[in-house]
Amino acid sequence: EGSKSLNFIEHIVEEDLSNGFAKEKLRFRFPPEPNGYLHIGHASSICLNFGLGLRYKAPVNLRFDDTNPAKEEQEYVDAIKRDVEWLGFKWDTECFASDYFQQLYDWAIVLIKQGKAYVDSQSSAEIAAQKGTPTEAGKPSPFRERSVEENLELFQAMKEGKFKEGEHVLRAKIDMASSNMLMRDPLMYRILHRPHHRTNTDWCIYPMYDWAHGESDYVEQVSHSFCTLEFAMHRELYDWFLDQVVDENKVRPKQREFARRNFSHTVVSKRKLLQLVEQGFVSGWDDPRMPTISGLRRRGYTPESLINFANTIGIAKRENVVDVSLLEFHVREHLNKIAPRVMAVLDPLKVVLTNYPEGEEEWLEAENNPEDEAAGSRQLPFSRELYIEKDDFKEEANRKFFRLKLGGEVRLKNGYIIKAESCTKDADGNITEVQCTYDPKSKSGSGTEESLRKVKGTLHWVSAPHAVSAEVRLYDRLFMDETPDGHKDRDFLEFINKDSLQVINAFVEPSLKNAVPEDRFQFQRTGYFNVDKESTSEKLIFNRTVGLRDSWAK
Ligand code: ATP
Ligand code: MG
Ligand code: MG
Repeated sequence: EGSKSLNFIEHIVEEDLSNGFAKEKLRFRFPPEPNGYLHIGHASSICLNFGLGLRYKAPVNLRFDDTNPAKEEQEYVDAIKRDVEWLGFKWDTECFASDYFQQLYDWAIVLIKQGKAYVDSQSSAEIAAQKGTPTEAGKPSPFRERSVEENLELFQAMKEGKFKEGEHVLRAKIDMASSNMLMRDPLMYRILHRPHHRTNTDWCIYPMYDWAHGESDYVEQVSHSFCTLEFAMHRELYDWFLDQVVDENKVRPKQREFARRNFSHTVVSKRKLLQLVEQGFVSGWDDPRMPTISGLRRRGYTPESLINFANTIGIAKRENVVDVSLLEFHVREHLNKIAPRVMAVLDPLKVVLTNYPEGEEEWLEAENNPEDEAAGSRQLPFSRELYIEKDDFKEEANRKFFRLKLGGEVRLKNGYIIKAESCTKDADGNITEVQCTYDPKSKSGSGTEESLRKVKGTLHWVSAPHAVSAEVRLYDRLFMDETPDGHKDRDFLEFINKDSLQVINAFVEPSLKNAVPEDRFQFQRTGYFNVDKESTSEKLIFNRTVGLRDSWAK
């Protein structure tokens, strides 16, 4: 732990500790808004905050930033909890900004009484028109000098539902000439006649993010509040709001910013992900093509692979685009260690071993994972009729084709050496069957001279009468463009890859009959696959997590 170099956020914490901040008072939070599912960008924030918790043995709160009833739902709260748990992190307290609505209201009353907040009765357009420009001061609202009594009365009436949406807002009275536009009398409350997923219709005024966030951190006694760079300008306001309420004996939360992560060939804005779901480009938030945690999980990613990825890219001060192939690298690396090897033929071609006795079968021993001795072995059926991949056979091919060709030999993995003698074609000239002979003395592992004979190619296969048919879903990138939401005049939806899902029927070895959702395998020579949540013992469904090699690399 001590030897790992610290990122700049960890340096901030270290510096506070060396300046006398008590280690026992450290507390962090991960603060998602429940307006969508967590995505791979959130994994960075989760690993940062929960990672700090682990490093300093400090509590980390899971805070739902639920101040906008128009977009938030219980479904998202549940999904977020499931995803954080699945990643393996444990929060100290489950918190909701909505739990502090009364406290925030009480503090707002204090501000009004101190002449630091007022009810503005202008429209949002009028307020915006008075904001000014960074170089030119804003104009004060005609309601800026309202009396405390009138403000208290109006604010209470707002709370009691006496007004329509947009009729009044509560604003902090700060500085209409500030060089920071956010300090020019920012909104604290707006009227929204919408039921909230937790407080239902108790409230019809809702606090703005800036008013709610820092005060929530303070209520929870969060010591360090890390957010993304777009909030850097908000820090002055965060501090101003805290100044109004902090008690010097309590921990004063500190906001610091790090760069939001972007990823190539995808989008990670929840608003855009919602569009993909609502407009049916994907089957849901957990569609295996989605960059959501639940989509990646359904695709076969492991928590370890996502955490290793997030820790490898680390925390940056500037925004940049991380290539998604790095994510694929990490899942390959982990699955290589843990995924049992199995035989599956995705595009089958029948092979008949003409010298193998008809009606007979035998069971061959197959190692489950050469990377993991403890994984043991299993029995594979072998018989006269087999399937191999269509593109593993050619009638004629040059010397570099190490697969099967007429007159040539290959080894069948865990089985025998076979030689292609002839093939059959249909009326269109497509090859429908290959007739081979096998060398009965060449059985893998039998120790005979023939079994040790080297042949150039080794193929995967399944025994035809024992094969189990399965649906296999092959995924490609959802966007072919590297930065689908990085084009000025074009909508990101224009860059959708229409061929990002291909569904095929494959034959798999019979040991897979009992595979259950989320089981992960390496289909030998093909890639990593996992069992989809829609899979049943009657109809097996596999998702391709990732190919064995980076097919995109040049
Ligand atoms: P979105 O635009 O997707 O809605 P958000 O920032 O509004 O993103 P939140 O639910 O508020 O989403 O995010 C919770 C936490 O995760 C915040 O601290 C936020 O800064 C962080 N976060 C969100 N997206 C990313 C990202 N792409 N990279 C790093 N951190 C992120
Ligand atoms: Mg958001
Ligand atoms: Mg947010």
